[in-house]
Amino acid sequence: MSEITVNALGKLNLGLDVVGTLPNGYHRVDMVMQTVKLADTLTIATREDSEIHITCTKDFVPVDESNLAYKAVLLLRRHFPGRVGGVDIHIKKMIPVAAGMAGGSSDAAAVVYGLNELFSLGMKKNFMMQISLELGADVPFCLFRGTARSTGIGERLERLPAIPQMRFLITKPPVSVSTAECYAAFDKVSDVIHPDMDALVNAISSGDMDGILSNMGNVLESVTAKKYPVIEEIKSVMRECGARNAVMTGSGPTVFGVFMPGDDIDKAYGEIGKRGLSKGLYTCGPYLI
Ligand code: ATP
Repeated sequence: MSEITVNALGKLNLGLDVVGTLPNGYHRVDMVMQTVKLADTLTIATREDSEIHITCTKDFVPVDESNLAYKAVLLLRRHFPGRVGGVDIHIKKMIPVAAGMAGGSSDAAAVVYGLNELFSLGMKKNFMMQISLELGADVPFCLFRGTARSTGIGERLERLPAIPQMRFLITKPPVSVSTAECYAAFDKVSDVIHPDMDALVNAISSGDMDGILSNMGNVLESVTAKKYPVIEEIKSVMRECGARNAVMTGSGPTVFGVFMPGDDIDKAYGEIGKRGLSKGLYTCGPYLI
């Protein structure tokens, strides 16, 4: 038996805009993605037989063929017939689930990476990114990592310079959001505020911290924050407690506040906990490349 342990890092959207819809109903997006140092840990071990067994530390995460990690094994079996044997995959879940942080996508990316090593498949990163798009629009980015602008349906990635050091306070409010339902509702909303993604990208490119902070934004707040007022409440508390800005990531409901090195992050952490606004509170930094 051989075994590998792989970290599956989460992501935050420093910016997210929806710029159109394709004939098949998919949405064209313009996003700035940032990998963060909040990670699931996957331990993948080969088996003597050909079965795929998944276990997870959170019992509400499905461990059957609907788990993206399982789907990733099947994907590689299709691309490399006869070369990918049975595996036991254990997922230590740290990334909040159904929260807009690409937890499932990152697990899938980790399996693609891990099986490439375990079964000596010889895939280069670009190829892994290309085939993993089939598993979901965020999966290629989870292999790419770092800071990137993502366009198309999320599959076109352009590397951006690393952002300045900062700390994130990440809060998952006690509600869950389905990405599909959020996008469906977005199509029916008329008054939305689009973040200026060019301005955000220019600020990142020139290392302009004030520009980064003032141009962060998420057009999907017009759906999710409208439905769940707790999101605006968390943003206000974070700002009152010293966050330089606070926005929702992905389709939500997770909100993150930005703090500079040396800022007091504990006050906001304590206040959000005290007011019962959170089902999970995390602090972490960006994963910089
Ligand atoms: P994204 O930001 O890519 O939209 P998300 O963070 O909103 O993703 P996930 O944490 O990936 O959402 O979970 C969405 C749903 O996917 C869960 O409710 C769960 O049923 C299912 N799922 C499948 N595989 C996994 C996995 N490995 N980890 C977590 N959830 C998974």
